[in-house]
Amino acid sequence: MSNIDIGIDLGTTNIIMTMGRKGVVINEPSVVAYDNRNKCVIATGKKAYNMIGRTPDFIDIVKPLKNGVISNSEMTQSLINSFMNTITRGQLFRPRIIICIPSFITEVESRAVVDIAVNTGSRNIHLLEEPVSAVMGAGIDVSKSLGTLILDIGGGTTDIAIISLNGIVDAISIKTAGNSLTTSIIKYMANKYRLIIGELTAENIKKEFVNVFNPSLEKDIKVKGMSIYSNLPTTIQVSEAELFLAIQENLIEIVNATKLLLERTNPNLIADICKNGAIMTGGGSLLKGLDKLLSKQINVDCKVAENPIECVAKGTSIAFKNMNKLLDGFEYIKIKNLG
Ligand code: ADP
Ligand code: MG
Repeated sequence: MSNIDIGIDLGTTNIIMTMGRKGVVINEPSVVAYDNRNKCVIATGKKAYNMIGRTPDFIDIVKPLKNGVISNSEMTQSLINSFMNTITRGQLFRPRIIICIPSFITEVESRAVVDIAVNTGSRNIHLLEEPVSAVMGAGIDVSKSLGTLILDIGGGTTDIAIISLNGIVDAISIKTAGNSLTTSIIKYMANKYRLIIGELTAENIKKEFVNVFNPSLEKDIKVKGMSIYSNLPTTIQVSEAELFLAIQENLIEIVNATKLLLERTNPNLIADICKNGAIMTGGGSLLKGLDKLLSKQINVDCKVAENPIECVAKGTSIAFKNMNKLLDGFEYIKIKNLG
């Protein structure tokens, strides 16, 4: 039986896992396909994601995490177990686990996370707050007394935090994030053009085409969907500027939350942030032009971290190496009866 360190970013959209020196070994959507006729899981991760909107009645597509917390424990366990099996390939492991949790989480919610880790047979479990892990994963030394502003824009939540001396000085979490943008695009197409588009179509438009800094009226994209008028497949041409309008409200919410956090921050930390800039992580930070838009709106240089989707998970590898130094945002749970 080997001792191994496993880090888990239990994200609303993606579950990312690291293993010892190998680094990131799993990066899969947090999606399960469940056969309710035979009462069994038939696919997890990417396979289940590709089934969205294409399943017969007896298959449910389940997204077991909502806004960063577990909403369906059984399905979350199935996901983690299936990914653990992929990593360990049947070998027996009794890993040390660091599992990341949102900074605003209740006792009950955090207990649900611990239970998932316990059921994998872990020897001991550490809980690490996501913003701290994200900053570490972005390559920043969190042990210094230099304030760092982090914006982790995930699927369900945007977490904005100020980190200094290994801990969170202050943080704000809002439910406006990547998924809100997708929903806004779907709503816009339905309201303005009476065009019904699928979730995957809207996701693709957001990732491939939307640009939120100086959006152009001339650049267009052809959007395919079902017309409410004719009940037939229809293609509509939409400009970058129009799509910016569609998600504008969401962007304002993210900007305002960041401004609110800065307003209540100590001037010494503000001076650090002005000097060092802000770091952006999470998939939502990949939205084209968002870094420039934020920099302009909050008057602080905002940079997207390298590989922003993997930062939270990568932070766990650094945390394993610095366990005794990390104070705040780190909770240790030893599972005695498991040895
Ligand atoms: P979570 O922590 O909630 O699992 P992630 O950090 O994995 O979330 O980010 C997922 C979000 O990032 C989704 O809403 C997804 O649509 C969005 N996203 C991923 N890539 C891009 C991209 N290139 N442009 C815009 N949004 C993106
Ligand atoms: Mg996340």
